[in-house]
Amino acid sequence: MSLIYSLKAGQPNFTHGFQDYLGEIIPFSKRIKNPLLKVPLVALKSFEWAIYRWYKTPIRRFYGVKSNELIYMITNACNEKCPKCGIWERPEPKSHHLRILHFLKCLNRLHHNLYQVTLTGGEPLLFKRDVMLIAEEAKKLGVPMVTITNGRTLDEAFLRRYKNLGHILVISIDSVQPEKWNQFRGTKSFDIVMPKIELAKSILGDQLRVQSVLSRETAEEVPKVIE
Ligand code: SF4
Repeated sequence: MSLIYSLKAGQPNFTHGFQDYLGEIIPFSKRIKNPLLKVPLVALKSFEWAIYRWYKTPIRRFYGVKSNELIYMITNACNEKCPKCGIWERPEPKSHHLRILHFLKCLNRLHHNLYQVTLTGGEPLLFKRDVMLIAEEAKKLGVPMVTITNGRTLDEAFLRRYKNLGHILVISIDSVQPEKWNQFRGTKSFDIVMPKIELAKSILGDQLRVQSVLSRETAEEVPKVIE
């Protein structure tokens, strides 16, 4: 795997590839006891190596196309109580929250082959500071980012900083009717979140997206959300 992760996008390194090949073939050939089988088996092994390296591994990368999305479920905690999702019933203890430094290291190691980093939860914005640190690092590394939120803790300062970084914010909305909204969210949050969605719309413009879950209960609501 060293070949995959040490190469930068669009920068093929044949020396590294050759070393990788020898690193597999030499130990393999030493294990072949029958001298008559050495050549055919090494040929077969070379063929297998070539398929593995050039087909199974992301060959597209050699043409500068990044092939992976890194999805980080930043927390298992949430400030809503949607009946369709039991995540809030088992709140994550604070001690289980991973130090953001670990994720930043991971992002730094993988960013050459990432076309996007996505933050989800639970509710990611319960950890706004962490989200902003990731957003800034992603910007520095040239990786587009998407954060999926229920919108409940959005505020102007966060939105303005996020806007400047050029990333996408996705808000989950399953209904625009107060009663249905409160029923789907399990809390009376319609009046809290709606003004924040308006604020997000005015600050983020086309960096704001909306997502809805299509189910039997929400089927009638989705067209109204789209409107
Ligand atoms: S807002 Fe999302 S994570 Fe939170 S309870 Fe609802 S569906 Fe689950």
